[in-house]
Amino acid sequence: MRDHERRHGHSHDEQSSAHEHSHGHDHPHGEGDGEMSHLDEMELRVRALESLLVEKGYVDPAALDVYIETYESKVGPRNGAKVVAKAWADDSFRRWLLDDATAAIASLGFTGRQGEHMVAVENTPDTHNMVVCTLCSCYPWTVLGLPPAWYKSPPYRSRAVIDPRGVLAEFGVTLPEATKIRVWDSTAEIRYLVVPMRPAETEGWPEERLAELVTRDSMIGTGLPLVPESLGSEPVS
Ligand code: FE
Repeated sequence: MRDHERRHGHSHDEQSSAHEHSHGHDHPHGEGDGEMSHLDEMELRVRALESLLVEKGYVDPAALDVYIETYESKVGPRNGAKVVAKAWADDSFRRWLLDDATAAIASLGFTGRQGEHMVAVENTPDTHNMVVCTLCSCYPWTVLGLPPAWYKSPPYRSRAVIDPRGVLAEFGVTLPEATKIRVWDSTAEIRYLVVPMRPAETEGWPEERLAELVTRDSMIGTGLPLVPESLGSEPVS
């Protein structure tokens, strides 16, 4: 059941963004969730629990922040960066990743929860890919860690589909007019990872150094990889 059509059936083309929104978004929560979805209730519950735990002295709020920070900006996105860097450096891995991302990513030790399939979408000079979850906040945790707050925000979720170019501009990304933007709508079952274009002048770089160029946002499609100069003057091998 992993044919191309099905796996790649969730994208919104920029041109047709006035669009039929019938993408079979299969979420664990019930129908009829509006903007005030149960995620808001969940957040309230989490906040209440956190307050209670802190109040009772069971957890140190600073320790919680460190934990979240670790997943948000270190562990998570670094996993994805390793995946992307390997795809840049190793063409057979790149092809495996594009063909069966779940397996290729698992081969590096990053595995998701049951029933979660990863799909990797590759940026090219012709096509830029961007990921959203229009209904809630489905996100590839195993490679990117916790989603950033904006990813879960209603404005991003609606505008990413309606006006992807405008959203990209707000992220400081301006693409050539000729570059098509495809927006992929994540679901509980399918999580997308953007493989950004490898920056110029990185020929012969080892994977570890390539990985340093891969930002979280470049794997969501709201950013681009860093340019080599930004890493400083360390010699490249
Ligand atoms: Fe979702």
